[in-house]
Amino acid sequence: MTKIIDGKAISQAIKDECRAQAAKYKEKGTEFTFAVIQVGSDPASTVYVKNKKKGCEYIGINSLSYELAEETSEDYLLKLIDELNANEKVTGILVQLPLPKHIDEDKVILAIDPDKDVDCFHPENVGNLSLGRDGFLPCTPAGIIELLKRSGIEIAGKECVIIGRSNIVGKPMALLLLRENATVTIAHSKTKNLAEVTQRADILIVAVGRPKMITAEYIKDGAVVIDVGIHRDENNKLCGDVDFSSAMPLCSAITPVPGGVGPMTIAMLLKNCLNARRK
Ligand code: NDP
Repeated sequence: MTKIIDGKAISQAIKDECRAQAAKYKEKGTEFTFAVIQVGSDPASTVYVKNKKKGCEYIGINSLSYELAEETSEDYLLKLIDELNANEKVTGILVQLPLPKHIDEDKVILAIDPDKDVDCFHPENVGNLSLGRDGFLPCTPAGIIELLKRSGIEIAGKECVIIGRSNIVGKPMALLLLRENATVTIAHSKTKNLAEVTQRADILIVAVGRPKMITAEYIKDGAVVIDVGIHRDENNKLCGDVDFSSAMPLCSAITPVPGGVGPMTIAMLLKNCLNARRK
């Protein structure tokens, strides 16, 4: 029978662990303040930012929120980041992406103090990750590792195929799976015979950004399938990159959308917020 991996329950367990940890820190007089900056009013970003603030409240982290107008200049944003970098009370800074087109995202990511970069996007943190050093972990991929481990799914020695090579999901996912001693393949839009490649996977991680693209023909019997995608289908219902009803009967375990990877990303962000001070 296929196991449906419950990302909501697992993320709640992580948030409860963070809450207990934050309370212990507070007893010792250590507090955390997380600053989140949103430029413009993209509805999806507004929901993400709201959920991040709610998560902070739940675990007992102070949050500062900067909701800036779409026309905000790059200079203004960079100055605000400088101020937050210099503010000793602020332990974590996150700039919600995507940014409006007139702002250079790379410049903004580089401006964040790597010690406060709880999203783990700064090149210094990405470098530490690829060298296997301690530090912040990229939230979505780290959340997927937690989902697998807490569902009792062994990673070491497994054939893992990731579809997608973005800086946010695909590439850091490969690095974390390597750390766990998996054999890793990354597929992308230029990969030939994609289904042949994905059919090799004991664990298939799908971050292709195309609604319901991955159907049964891409999946080996008994594989674990992790669906990172988030979309609205033709009926305005949330769906993933995997066609759940086609894929599910073949899988030994699968994540649903919603309620799979999504809630884990925020839980891991909160975990990074608590790790900031310890760095
Ligand atoms: P990107 O669009 O940045 O990357 C998509 C990747 O898929 C690219 O590497 C691209 O290849 C590859 N690709 C596109 N089409 C094909 C194809 N036909 N065959 C094989 N590979 C293909 O997406 P992200 O990594 O940012 O996000 C992926 C999905 O995950 C999205 O749906 C996004 O909304 C979701 N997401 C969810 C999160 C969560 O918390 N649950 C967090 C982040 C993202 P190439 O590089 O060659 O162009």
